[in-house]
Amino acid sequence: MKKLFIETLGCAMNSRDSEHIIAQLREKDNYETTDDLKDADLILINTCSVREKPVSKLFSELGIFNKKKKVDAKIGVCGCTASHLGDEIIKRAPYVNFVLGARNVSKISEVLHKDKAVEVDINYDESEFAFDDFRTSTYKAFINISMGCDKSCTYCIVPKTRGDEISIPIDLIIREASRAVDGGAKEIFLLGQNVNNYGRRFSGDREKVNFTKLLQELSKIKELQRIRFTSPHPFHMDDEFIEEFAKNPKICKSMHMPLQSGSTKVLKDMKRGYSKEWFLNRVKKLRQECPDVSISTDVIVAFPGESDEDFEDTLDVINQVRFNQIFSFKYSPRPQTQAEHFTNTVDADIASTRLTRLQNIHTDILDEINATSLGKTYRVYFENLIQDYYVSGRSDENIVIKVKGSDELLGEFRDVKITSIGRTILTGEIVA
Ligand code: SF4
Repeated sequence: MKKLFIETLGCAMNSRDSEHIIAQLREKDNYETTDDLKDADLILINTCSVREKPVSKLFSELGIFNKKKKVDAKIGVCGCTASHLGDEIIKRAPYVNFVLGARNVSKISEVLHKDKAVEVDINYDESEFAFDDFRTSTYKAFINISMGCDKSCTYCIVPKTRGDEISIPIDLIIREASRAVDGGAKEIFLLGQNVNNYGRRFSGDREKVNFTKLLQELSKIKELQRIRFTSPHPFHMDDEFIEEFAKNPKICKSMHMPLQSGSTKVLKDMKRGYSKEWFLNRVKKLRQECPDVSISTDVIVAFPGESDEDFEDTLDVINQVRFNQIFSFKYSPRPQTQAEHFTNTVDADIASTRLTRLQNIHTDILDEINATSLGKTYRVYFENLIQDYYVSGRSDENIVIKVKGSDELLGEFRDVKITSIGRTILTGEIVA
């Protein structure tokens, strides 16, 4: 077996693409993975372009790879930065052997045997490609349900790196989920840029089906116990979807609702397609149907044109909703986006001050929320061994919880009573 070293940056979709790459190379080219860069015959980096930081990280990583690699080892660049930089990567790092875009994963064997190959067609359709199977975890299975995105949020590079939105046929998804459950996974995690827009377009002529229907069909898989998904779009949060989310016992009661901004004016400039009022209305509906739901979100501060009042609107939503988790960032201009050309940029110091203020407010809210968990009991699915003989897992509400234990607990459900509170992980004792 030849040795493959693969580094994955970015989101869960990149992690699933890396699993597909490993599966193809194992089946087609006799590779197995190694954690030892110096021992690798092939070195891959699966890249992310959502902000500038991961892009600059790419070229520093490539330099290290080139220094440490075996003489005849090959280097390949995959993922979103591959899609938007293409052959510029080889110009800047001539020792790179090939470049494979995020929408061309199924061509990995092809480019491996064609030196200086650049395959970055962002609308190459592999939505019906049956990838061989490889999973990093046997307990939880990530499953792509669509690829690409048809929205045009003015700050986002994804449509330029992952192409138009195409849904993967429901029969392929159910087959993949059943195979993962047969392999030991009790939880599946559905992935897409806009999962609740599922079924709007397939590559072939397919029966019309929406996300709610997909969730209902997947729930029929007997041994499957938990369904999670990311990322739903607030615009597509209709009542049917929210009611199914609330009443379906297999759907985990944690919802990611990317807000981005709490100002309707800024949301308009971002072309998000909804207002502050709509977002709050959907949260109200969600909590009416599912009072214990945990809600997480994404927020961009200092988007061009964001005034102090706009920012206060964002803080107002954060104080009203009291999110269980916030992924917050300063606006990072991305190439090939509309906002890249917006001139009314926000001063860098103001941007940092706003981000710090937002994160401090959220931390206080999180501490208050976590404190209410003391003494409560949660159903936890154990997935990871962590240091000091602890095992960790997640509750239905996506709370990370650890208990004293060994690998016998991995892949098992237990009821856990919370005994102490941390900011990112709670500690408890098994009660059943
Ligand atoms: S919905 Fe908007 S933010 Fe999300 S991937 Fe599509 S363009 Fe980007």
